[in-house]
Amino acid sequence: MLIRVSLAFFLMIQVHAATASPLEEESEQLQTERLSSSEAREALNLPVVSELRTATVLSFSDSDVQFWANRAKAAHSAAPVEQGDLAKTYDIIIQLGHYPRKQGRTGGQGKFVNEQQMAALVGVGLYRKLQELKFQGKTISTLLVSADDYTKGLKSKIFLSLHTDASVTPCSLGPSVGYQGDKDEKGMHGIALALAITLGKDAERFMRDSYTRALQEYYAYRRFNVSLFKGVLEMSELTCPDDEKNLLLKASQLSTNIAYAVQWALR
Ligand SMILES: [Zn+2]
Repeated sequence: MLIRVSLAFFLMIQVHAATASPLEEESEQLQTERLSSSEAREALNLPVVSELRTATVLSFSDSDVQFWANRAKAAHSAAPVEQGDLAKTYDIIIQLGHYPRKQGRTGGQGKFVNEQQMAALVGVGLYRKLQELKFQGKTISTLLVSADDYTKGLKSKIFLSLHTDASVTPCSLGPSVGYQGDKDEKGMHGIALALAITLGKDAERFMRDSYTRALQEYYAYRRFNVSLFKGVLEMSELTCPDDEKNLLLKASQLSTNIAYAVQWALR
């Protein structure tokens, strides 16, 4: 009986996830294919896992959350986004979801921050962390871009778009990782592990439940010339107050973990 009830609940969530999402262009990818448990277990053996740390938040007050919300707003107001250079091949292009749109699809709204601010907090942190890491003795070349305003056809090994989810029924969507095809798999496995491990999720379960091969394209994919892999990270559901707080408090560790996953994926 218990099993039946939880299965029904699980199916309910699946249906909900499919119907609650059209708030966003990236969530219109309703047809998705999930990862098998053997694929998920295989991902857990990736060497990058040893470099990833769960963010430990032992106790916190609302003022701690407010501190990170203020950092997110500051990151948003001074995000070093650029147009990009067609003559270069970047190691990674990081896109801040919806940034800095004022109309149309502007992104979700949380209690402390909005989606653009959260994306800026993690994205600018990732950008800075990557400046400290090296690949083959050289600084990892990183470009930060907005949602719409950049040179079309930029060359990059990796493209990663940072988003949060929103739902009309709060706390019904978890974090998730989406990618397009087989070519994107290796690198996006590392990114998915970085997200799951940072948030203290059961990584194998996360990979099976929340790692999806989107059969439709994210609008920005075709605007870049990507050689290694591309994907979309839905870092958490911003309309779930506990998840919003959790992500704010863990944002810095998430930036660091994604940076290590990127460094590993370039190898
Ligand atoms: Zn979004």
